[in-house]
Amino acid sequence: MDVIVIGAGVVGLAIARRFALAGQSVLVLEQHPTPGQETSSRNSEVLHAGIYYRPGSLKARLCVQGYEQLVAYCQDRHVPYGLPGKLILATDEAGEAKLEQLQANAAANGVSLESLAQKQVAEREPAVSCRSALWSPKTGIIDSHALMTAFQADIEAHDGDVVCHHRVEKLERSGDHWQVSVVDSEGERSVIDAGRVINAAGLGALTVARSVTPAIADLPEAAYAKGCYFGYSGRLPVSHLLYPTPEAGGLGIHLTLDLNGQPRFGPDVTFLDTDVPDYEVDPAQAGRFASAVQTYLPGLDASKLVPAYAGVRPKVKVGDVINDDFLLQGYNCAEHQGLINLFGIESPGLTASMAIADAVFEQGQ
Ligand SMILES: Cc1cc2nc3c(=O)[nH]c(=O)nc-3n(C[C@H](O)[C@H](O)[C@H](O)COP(=O)(O)OP(=O)(O)OC[C@H]3O[C@@H](n4cnc5c(N)ncnc54)[C@H](O)[C@@H]3O)c2cc1C
Repeated sequence: MDVIVIGAGVVGLAIARRFALAGQSVLVLEQHPTPGQETSSRNSEVLHAGIYYRPGSLKARLCVQGYEQLVAYCQDRHVPYGLPGKLILATDEAGEAKLEQLQANAAANGVSLESLAQKQVAEREPAVSCRSALWSPKTGIIDSHALMTAFQADIEAHDGDVVCHHRVEKLERSGDHWQVSVVDSEGERSVIDAGRVINAAGLGALTVARSVTPAIADLPEAAYAKGCYFGYSGRLPVSHLLYPTPEAGGLGIHLTLDLNGQPRFGPDVTFLDTDVPDYEVDPAQAGRFASAVQTYLPGLDASKLVPAYAGVRPKVKVGDVINDDFLLQGYNCAEHQGLINLFGIESPGLTASMAIADAVFEQGQ
């Protein structure tokens, strides 16, 4: 193969599609029975406009670029999406100061947000309580499963393959190529040769990178952070996505609407002290979620919250510092040439997926 991509999440599929469209022979290896069973199906499915990320960072640049690419792709390929827009709500004085910072940050990323006074918010969302808000008209919602199906169809239409039930165990450099050792669900082992390897294994990317021979020095470490969601057994009188001001490690417990208008709340942030994902949602946390949402939606009926699902942010730390950006690590040395490791592909990785694919493609040339 010209290229092996490890991991059939939305980012791995976008990357494989990019190489396949350029005429290269591509194979995607996925450990689960079907693509997209990990982080790519455990998120908020929000099309982010590019508000929060440090100006100049990969997250900022690839989110803004990826948003435009994705909306055009959804239109072209009939992938369901919607643009309900979102309100970021300040409920106290400290929150109002944060809104000012957010608006300036978004502007530095080329994203324009409108300031709304309390009365203007009440006109749009009568059930919401706040002091003021920022309005982001571009923020949307996407059907991430339909997107992954479309990416996979593009790969296969260009003679690429997505092979499930195959877990990559190790990578070895041999001459001018890579030997990729895989094990299938029956325990059968095989080795596949490839000119380039893209490690897009998400929560498994560090394990894959640690399996490389010769070993890679200075790999980052896991700082995974779980986020839980609750659903709602009923409808709510809201028509936009509602966000509080962001908190450390996440965007605050927000209210998103799926494409059918059904609300869900979350994610919260809990740092894990292991790199083994934990997807349990504790029903006893419903009260805490309800209180957080009631600060901006006082009419919420706490008894209607139901545990939904959890996702794990594949954050990494470099030294003692949690990295705040995507890490696309290529290597100049002959012994690791042709390998690109993707670390820390947390939010807005879904929105940025096509732009990440372009960046990896350029780096891999
Ligand atoms: C709680 C939460 C909320 C989020 N909300 C949003 C949002 O609203 N909008 C947004 O833009 N982004 C959001 N994100 C980020 C987005 O979901 C991710 O950036 C994106 O899904 C990452 O895709 P991926 O392909 O890199 O990883 P994954 O989807 O995790 O795919 C990696 C794949 O690699 C496979 N794999 C792992 N190890 C191996 C191996 N050894 N061999 C073979 N296969 C292997 C896994 O099985 C998996 O299928 C959110 C993330 C989280 C956690």
